[in-house]
Amino acid sequence: MLTKQDIIAEARRLKFADIGFTNAEPFTSQKEYLLDHMTEYGWTQKAGFSLLDGTDPQNILPGAKSIIVLLESYFAEAFPHQMEGNFGRCYLDDDRVTKDGLALKVKAFRQFLKANSIDSKVPFNLPHRLAAARAGLGTFGKNSLFYARRVARASSWIIPVTIVIDSEFPPDEPTVAIGCPEWCRNACVAACPTGALKGGGKIDPRRCISYLTYYGEGLTPRELREPMGMYVYGCDRCQNVCPRNLPWMSEAKIMNSRVAAKAADFELACLLHMDKPYFTQKIWPHMFYMSADDLWRWKMNAARAMGNSLNPAYTADLIRAFKENSDERVQSMIAWALSRIGGQEAKEALNQFQKGSKGIVRDEIEQAFAEL
Ligand code: SF4
Ligand code: SF4
Repeated sequence: MLTKQDIIAEARRLKFADIGFTNAEPFTSQKEYLLDHMTEYGWTQKAGFSLLDGTDPQNILPGAKSIIVLLESYFAEAFPHQMEGNFGRCYLDDDRVTKDGLALKVKAFRQFLKANSIDSKVPFNLPHRLAAARAGLGTFGKNSLFYARRVARASSWIIPVTIVIDSEFPPDEPTVAIGCPEWCRNACVAACPTGALKGGGKIDPRRCISYLTYYGEGLTPRELREPMGMYVYGCDRCQNVCPRNLPWMSEAKIMNSRVAAKAADFELACLLHMDKPYFTQKIWPHMFYMSADDLWRWKMNAARAMGNSLNPAYTADLIRAFKENSDERVQSMIAWALSRIGGQEAKEALNQFQKGSKGIVRDEIEQAFAEL
């Protein structure tokens, strides 16, 4: 019969950063929180995440007795600087579609359990961070993220993987608490450009740049365009400014060769001009929250980032993309981006685009002129 030590040894052999155990009791506080905050979280039900169902492990595996939480350190290697500027780090080497990285380790771990007569499920909707804290693996930050206790220099650059099993193992001592030092004056809350962080570890996900980049509806409102900065998909700002992350961030790391190899495919100009085959082959396998029908949002985000770069080198790409695209949301953002970069070439292009424009595109061009 497998012991807890045997399972820990297997997790170490497979090079997971850490492992903890908790019982399969429902996550009652999480359920109550979700029910009390349906205005902020109602979209998750519509998007098919079923977070409420995930608060009871019995819904995931009837007869569940324990939950094993594995920690994966996703920032163990360095990423190209330009990629870090445009994309949340947790998406840069995401293998949830390609299943050729973390997925292989999780599969091997579950095969080990199965070979020892333990049934398991890997839910997508269980409250992973809360489970990790219940398993004693770390604490929360006021940015609502989870910080490791023993690994990755106690940083937040880790992903908890929860595995619900039908065997009982002694749970670890929970560490469910905010672990921020008192001297930190809520740097994350102050740095959040869109006001998503509410303090005390609470977040309004609908205002978070991560949500806005892949689920935001329609043309990004003007007042959010500058605050969303250079991010095209995801956001790491509240992690980058956090002093709890400094020890890990200041360590030298070798370059992640998988991510470096695909960096050229993710350049802003490529995203702005991409067609469906390009997206399907090169982008979607790594960043899949938006489908091929949402290319307009990718392009709108790329145009906004180009505008915020203030780099005239993007002017020609923006002009070309305006002509290539008929989507009014993309054209509107391009007009905004051209006005933000400014210059004679941008002015002349906007002048040309104004003729024959209508609706929100015309409005944007008029506002662009006002700002120029
Ligand atoms: S990820 Fe960005 S937008 Fe979201 S809470 Fe953090 S700083 Fe704010
Ligand atoms: S920035 Fe400060 S308050 Fe925010 S999570 Fe980090 S330590 Fe906590």
